[in-house]
Amino acid sequence: MANQKGFWRVAVGIGILVGVAAVVLLLQPSGQMSNFQKWQYSSSEKAAAPATLQVKFFGVSTLLFDDGKTQVLIDGFFSRPSIAQVLFTKTQSQPQVIQHIVQQHQLQRTQAIFVTHSHYDHALDIAELGKQLPNSKIIGSRSTLNIARGGQVSEQQLLLVQPLRPMMFGQFRVTAIPSQHTPPTAVNNDLGEEITQPLQLPAHFSAFKEGHSFDYLIEHSGQRILVKASTGAVPDQLKNLKVDTLFLGIAQLSRQSEQFQQNYLDQTLRSLQPKVVVPVHWDNFFQPIDQPLEFLPYLADNTEQSLKILIRAAEQQRTRLVLLSQPVSYPLDPALQSDR
Ligand SMILES: [Zn+2]
Repeated sequence: MANQKGFWRVAVGIGILVGVAAVVLLLQPSGQMSNFQKWQYSSSEKAAAPATLQVKFFGVSTLLFDDGKTQVLIDGFFSRPSIAQVLFTKTQSQPQVIQHIVQQHQLQRTQAIFVTHSHYDHALDIAELGKQLPNSKIIGSRSTLNIARGGQVSEQQLLLVQPLRPMMFGQFRVTAIPSQHTPPTAVNNDLGEEITQPLQLPAHFSAFKEGHSFDYLIEHSGQRILVKASTGAVPDQLKNLKVDTLFLGIAQLSRQSEQFQQNYLDQTLRSLQPKVVVPVHWDNFFQPIDQPLEFLPYLADNTEQSLKILIRAAEQQRTRLVLLSQPVSYPLDPALQSDR
């Protein structure tokens, strides 16, 4: 009897150890940035004149476009709560983090915040941004606007997205294009569901319903840029479009079937024929904004694989791939991009 008890104690102990080891492994970054140095942009490469169109990447698909006069933000996610906070507590925007970002990157010139969809890793901070930037407009789905309303953002700042109707902000012409989210997983199986009431924070991450997804076409000084945050495409939606720069979501690309991967690249990269493709939504968004971006943990994706799939496809058509790994100004002027 005593022996049997001892056996079970050892067995349970081993079981717990194996479980802990598995969790630790799953939380490790799925590859190293240092293996992709060849594609990484470093800010010292070229100093762009301040008046040229530039972009800064803040992880996931938060992108700040700036022409020296006007800024346009795609998505608003800077608070980046830890995985423990997301899973075990309610998520919250961090006003001090936003304040710091606003000062550091002079976001007072932001005229518009376009939101790709309403999951928290795209929209958590839009209400706080709206309050700290009272001259900005927030443009998104009904769900997105309800996140802003939950934070008491003035109704005059909110604009319901109008698909395929261009909007002007300074020299920026921005068009929302209906899109498709990354195939759902157990934790975000809410595609098409909406946030029907103002969403007050803190809120559980699952309260941030997708509420439909949008790509954004940005036209500025003769250039065309498409931001596609999610790894999904509406068939033939982009077939008549060509762009200079493509910001392409690759989250979980490696986890999809070969057929899905090829179809996704056909509908986006191969059809849009950009000069430059910049992968987005590859970083571990449970890490704070003041740390260098690292790959998603194995739990979420094999980022090294996802990147390699994109690199291979880009090389085949001579599109240059640029990996942005920190929020430094990247010039979108084709003349500055052409050599390095
Ligand atoms: Zn999402």
